[in-house]
Amino acid sequence: MVGVMGMADVILPGSTIGVLGSGQLGRMLALAARPLGYHIHVFSPEQGTPTGQIADVEVCAAYEDLDAVRAFAREVDVVTYEFENVPALTAAACQEFAPLRPGPQALHISQNRLREKAFFAANSLPTTPFAAVHSLADLQAGLAQIGCPAVLKTAVSGYDGKGQIKLMHPHEAAAAWQAVDQVPCVLEGWVTFERELSVVGARGIDGRFAHYGVIENSHHHHILDVSKAPAGVPPGVAQDAIEMAHAVLAALDVVGVLCVEFFLTAEGQLLLNEIAPRPHNSGHLTIEACVTSQFEQQLRAVCGLPLGSPMYRQPAAMANLLGDLWFSTHQAAEGLHAEARKQAPEWTAVLGIPNLKVHLYGKREARPGRKMGHMTALADTIEEAEKIVRQARRVLTD
Ligand code: AMP
Repeated sequence: MVGVMGMADVILPGSTIGVLGSGQLGRMLALAARPLGYHIHVFSPEQGTPTGQIADVEVCAAYEDLDAVRAFAREVDVVTYEFENVPALTAAACQEFAPLRPGPQALHISQNRLREKAFFAANSLPTTPFAAVHSLADLQAGLAQIGCPAVLKTAVSGYDGKGQIKLMHPHEAAAAWQAVDQVPCVLEGWVTFERELSVVGARGIDGRFAHYGVIENSHHHHILDVSKAPAGVPPGVAQDAIEMAHAVLAALDVVGVLCVEFFLTAEGQLLLNEIAPRPHNSGHLTIEACVTSQFEQQLRAVCGLPLGSPMYRQPAAMANLLGDLWFSTHQAAEGLHAEARKQAPEWTAVLGIPNLKVHLYGKREARPGRKMGHMTALADTIEEAEKIVRQARRVLTD
């Protein structure tokens, strides 16, 4: 529903945005907020963080320290977040002093895979076959019902493939149940997908919706590796994916940005995998490719401003830069201790490539699997953009 924008809801330039979480997503939000004259306060348990380096104020305290949370919220005009595992009490403490956008409902659903699946079912959104698992008996029954291969995912605090175990045979049930520490889980049927897709959407305070079309993603070791957009999928598939994303944002009454990840099966069926009520790694390419980036869109939405145009200026492809790049294979081949020979890649080798942009998140320490930065290439086609960005990354690994 599109409603009337109340002046009281609008948080004008010059105001202060509070951000819970201090990683690269908060950093890129802060960078998008600067040109519009907003101030940024960030709250997280760490110091010298990717967001803190760009913020006006970096508050370092535990999320459970509700006095610190209240003191933080008192100083800001709106609170948003860059990760979905914000504890409910932290969110509620913020709301005593400032609007929380997106609201607690989006957090409640997206931070628990069991609730997420129930939400999909309640809204008739197609997802992978699944079973709730609270015991070994549940797991065994789930495997009998769903079959193998299947994947067991912890209901909370799993991301980038953490807390996930693939089961190839029912006799692996007991070991898998031990491996997840017997915490509540979702068992999913293994989908032989043809592609992985995502839709990043934004919803304004007036209910207006904007989206970046369909983005195509490839993962490596469960971590996003390369994204490209606009994805070359049949128009009907794109339309369905966008409509489902819109339905999710509307059902959760999201004021902000939310990403929906999908599997596209060989039969052309879209299955929702998961949702994240914030900008998403697959949307980083919107920084260069679109008139309004996903981060400026988040800012506009949470501030009650009109959404910007999400139009693509050019097709684009993005490749993540993981900490692995700091540990050269050449050194490993020489038998040297990788940790001892850790060094930053030679950025100058790629900075001369036309139509390529390099983003580094200012993280002090590189670790394998840690997202340290990304690169985006623009070209006339997504194929060409992907070629440029993959070649550039190969230059960094050589
Ligand atoms: P997730 O954390 O649920 O997004 O999972 C990370 C990645 O693991 C996904 O992007 C897929 O590449 C893979 N994956 C997760 N669940 C499944 C599934 N049910 N079937 C096939 N691949 C999966």
